[in-house]
Amino acid sequence: MRCPFCASPDTQVKDSRIAEDGSYIKRRRFCTECGSRFTTFERVQLKDIMVKKSNGLVVPFEREKLLKSIQIACKKRPISDERIEKIVSSIQRQLETTGEGEVSSREIGVLAMEILLSLDIVAYIRFASVYYNFDNKEDFSKFIDTIQKEALEENTDKILEKSYDKCSLNPEFEPIAKEVKDELF
Ligand SMILES: [Zn+2]
Repeated sequence: MRCPFCASPDTQVKDSRIAEDGSYIKRRRFCTECGSRFTTFERVQLKDIMVKKSNGLVVPFEREKLLKSIQIACKKRPISDERIEKIVSSIQRQLETTGEGEVSSREIGVLAMEILLSLDIVAYIRFASVYYNFDNKEDFSKFIDTIQKEALEENTDKILEKSYDKCSLNPEFEPIAKEVKDELF
């Protein structure tokens, strides 16, 4: 594996660990050239997935892009890196097993939102803000009002309601960066 910092081909594996559920192998690597340390994950890829974007372009599925967008949505939220890895793996596995070689970026977005909604409402709203592509602040607050109302109607538990409050008050709350949106959808 080439060093991501200095591009030297001479890197060594320091430590290998299999995930608890056996879904991936994590390797700590060391570059003998520049001394940098980095981590790689080894996973099964069942088949190649092609993604049809909203502009009609068909591009190969890139796990890294999905990972990055979910990392941004989960920024400063109580969701571990390992959990995020699992979310992405779960989405990837579902895409690989749908039987079709091509999926739309919208379908991937829906899968991601379903998982995030069950985990953390702030992460969900951030991700949804990209997915629904709000043109203005008004549309965005309408969206938040709607899900707040839904949560109340369904009598969702207190923790969830608290998270809703937090997301409207928390100054850290912000939609996902535009560059991720362009890459993803
Ligand atoms: Zn290096």
